[in-house]
Amino acid sequence: MRKRAQRFERLAASVFKHSQEGIVVTDMYNHIIDANPASLRLSGYSREEVLGKDPRMFSSGNHPRSFYTTMWKAINEFGHWQGEIQNRKKSGEFYTEQLSIDVVSDRDGNLQHYVAAFSDISYLKEHAMALKEIAYNDALTGLPNRLLLQDRMQQALSHAKRQGKQIAVCYLDLDGFKPVNDNHGHQAGDQILIEVARRLQQNLRTGDTVARLGGDEFVLLMLDIRSTSELEQLLARVLKTIAEPYALQDTTLTLFASIGIATHPPDSEEADTLLRHADQAMYAAKQSGKNRYAFFDPSEEQKAVTINSIQREIQIALAREQLRLYYQPKVNMASGAMAGVEALIRWQHPEKGLLTPDAFLPAIEHSELIFDLGHWVLRQALTQMRAWKMEGIELEVSVNIAALQLQRVDFVPSLKALLAEFPDVPASRLQLEILETAALQDINAVSKIIAQCAELGVQFALDDFGTGYSSLTYLRRLPTQVLKIDQSFIRDLLSDPEDLAITKGILGLTQAFQRTVVAEGVETIEHGTLLLKLGCELAQGYGIARPMPAGDLPAWMDSYQIPSEWKKANLDYSI
Ligand code: C2E
Ligand code: MG
Ligand code: MG
Repeated sequence: MRKRAQRFERLAASVFKHSQEGIVVTDMYNHIIDANPASLRLSGYSREEVLGKDPRMFSSGNHPRSFYTTMWKAINEFGHWQGEIQNRKKSGEFYTEQLSIDVVSDRDGNLQHYVAAFSDISYLKEHAMALKEIAYNDALTGLPNRLLLQDRMQQALSHAKRQGKQIAVCYLDLDGFKPVNDNHGHQAGDQILIEVARRLQQNLRTGDTVARLGGDEFVLLMLDIRSTSELEQLLARVLKTIAEPYALQDTTLTLFASIGIATHPPDSEEADTLLRHADQAMYAAKQSGKNRYAFFDPSEEQKAVTINSIQREIQIALAREQLRLYYQPKVNMASGAMAGVEALIRWQHPEKGLLTPDAFLPAIEHSELIFDLGHWVLRQALTQMRAWKMEGIELEVSVNIAALQLQRVDFVPSLKALLAEFPDVPASRLQLEILETAALQDINAVSKIIAQCAELGVQFALDDFGTGYSSLTYLRRLPTQVLKIDQSFIRDLLSDPEDLAITKGILGLTQAFQRTVVAEGVETIEHGTLLLKLGCELAQGYGIARPMPAGDLPAWMDSYQIPSEWKKANLDYSI
């Protein structure tokens, strides 16, 4: 019996000494009476330093008092406690241990010792955290991902419900991020996304969440919205910070963002619906000109559906080659010489017949699709110029460029690449028409683009001139050679003295600045006669020819003769 007890004691001593688990034994007053080598290794203390001390010396200070109260209650009641606890090493470093504490009593049930056994599970903890990080966070920016956002939205929604508060879901999409990626490489793109993430986080209040859904799409989840104006201020600040320049290795870029907002209440309490509505509102913000925010408007939902379906249809139209270019001649009314043609897009719709741009361009001119369409138009026009050239017809061809297309960062390089595909078509025969209103939006940027195109030999015309209220200074700064007087002034030229005055004014302006002027919308011979008297020779309009398929143009050119009235007016004018 005794021998067995001795053997057991030896065994226990050996376990105590060699165990990988840390073991600390305290007396009934909870003073340490022994600590095994593993426990000393883990805590970093020497045996002498711990003997006689309270194990509280290991505590990290990271648990609330209630944690220890519960623990001691379990030990006293059940004689046992087990759980995870964070402690601190002598070096100050925290570590998480799996700890079990047992009470050792004598035969009569009197408490004698406490035995604590523990192992360091920090690495397990870290591993688990890393896994969680991967599952819930976006690898590039470290922001919460869609999964975590869903979690947070659920929490936010129930919080809002309990507290009677309002939350806002803001869907943010960068404007023109794709071209940055295309032109500067993915690394630069990544760098910008990281910076955007940083700026977004900086602007949020504590408790709010910014998540990245992927690509250039982010979501801001804001709790406890006190007022719409507070929210608007916040978003205005977000837009402003996003618009600050981004420094890349070799250049600086400016980007904008469009934000769509859905708030609950009054909007749905379904997380998915809220997010979808915010997405739709973001789309509306892009449609109305980018670099802005828009609130979800239920009545817009139907409109968005229509626009979406037109966009899809146009995509199909592009793929199935249902788009056409028609050409409308410009002539010199004084000499009868052909001055060029303007390419105008048409859609040969399988059911609706031939559609003019007003039926479909508005649905896409603020969307990415305008790039595809614009590129198609340019390529098509150049292809036609090459074909005409082979027939011996060399004409100046004007192509309309949408504002968005012009301001895309890769506009000039992609035009250059396209021109290189048509080496036999002189760039100087290509003219680009931009709306005066679009040119004025960002006059510095536009002037720069125009100058770069001029280096390629490509000319510009300011379209619908007179509608944008260009000041003289603006006009001087815009290096466009040609101005096209908007047809709204020409139409009533014969009857409306104001329109006559405006037209005269524009003609005076173009003379002073030595620009070429073209009158648009010349519908009758009388219009032309009057314009000639005013000194405007170049004209385009139904009175000369309607836009026509390319194939009809050679025959039209062969047979066209200017009306005798114009010859006469020309004579009168020159006298
Ligand atoms: P715009 O560039 O000012 O083109 C002139 C428009 O006036 C054309 O309309 C033309 O058919 C019309 N027009 C010409 N002469 C007369 C006339 O005597 N009377 C009247 N009432 N109208 C006349 P269209 O082809 O419907 O084009 C409308 C607008 O759509 C164009 O205005 C242009 O801003 C845009 N557009 C046309 N093609 C393209 C394109 O390929 N790309 C882009 N981005 N926009 C285009
Ligand atoms: Mg035009
Ligand atoms: Mg026009």
